[in-house]
Amino acid sequence: MVDNFYVIDAHCHIYPEKIAEKAVAGTDNFYGVTSHCKGTVSELKELYKSTGTDHFIIQSVATTAKQVKSINEFIAAEVKNGGGLFTGLGTLYPDSTDVADDVKHLVSLGLKGVKLHPDIQNFKIDDYRCIKIYELCEQEGLPILMHTGDSRYDNSNPNRLLPILEIFTELTVIGAHLGGYSIWDEACEKLAGKPNLYVDCSSSFPFISKEKALEIIKKYGADRVLYGTDYPMWSPYNEMKTFMELDLTDEERKLILSENAKKLFW
Ligand SMILES: [Zn+2]
Repeated sequence: MVDNFYVIDAHCHIYPEKIAEKAVAGTDNFYGVTSHCKGTVSELKELYKSTGTDHFIIQSVATTAKQVKSINEFIAAEVKNGGGLFTGLGTLYPDSTDVADDVKHLVSLGLKGVKLHPDIQNFKIDDYRCIKIYELCEQEGLPILMHTGDSRYDNSNPNRLLPILEIFTELTVIGAHLGGYSIWDEACEKLAGKPNLYVDCSSSFPFISKEKALEIIKKYGADRVLYGTDYPMWSPYNEMKTFMELDLTDEERKLILSENAKKLFW
């Protein structure tokens, strides 16, 4: 399906084997879905063979400040054991007593960016508690993969991301789910064209038509979109199939499947 392309899946959640089942059940409950996959590294490694994916950007989100360092150590260990298959993103938590130390630790582990999830971590994107995180990520050149959108909550609305992009002009943010899960049009209208914003296409194809997906990708620009599947939520095969069926040029596919991610993380 993707023989001619190097493929980086830029949005993968992984959990330690022991807690994966419980963790995936928790997200399934939150989103009202039944995940297609298990959320373990062993499964991810197996799957990549069948979908033609060459590299994965892996992450896990802390739901308390106490979990931050151990989760970052877990991700870093998997990167090390992955034999070049993985790039790791760290987690941070706004209420940590020492965000600067968490960032220092994360960088020393070789992690290449930060994943934040306002709804699961219970903060608003423009919350003053996050300012320190944005300052430090900007300073360290760590891109933030930010969960964006969700019509049920106000935490990650594009309106809250706009001022952050304007204040922290050297910070790169990747707005997950084409910039706004379940509010795709609204998000694209507000966020397209922002110079320090990229988006990924995860958790979008199951909900919008191919025509709509193409329209939104074109509005952001193919040089601004990263391929990602939100593993373990969907069928990686279906995600890739839908993507390859979009009426994009091979040059645009190449940017989305790998070049944009390489530019940000390698
Ligand atoms: Zn995610």
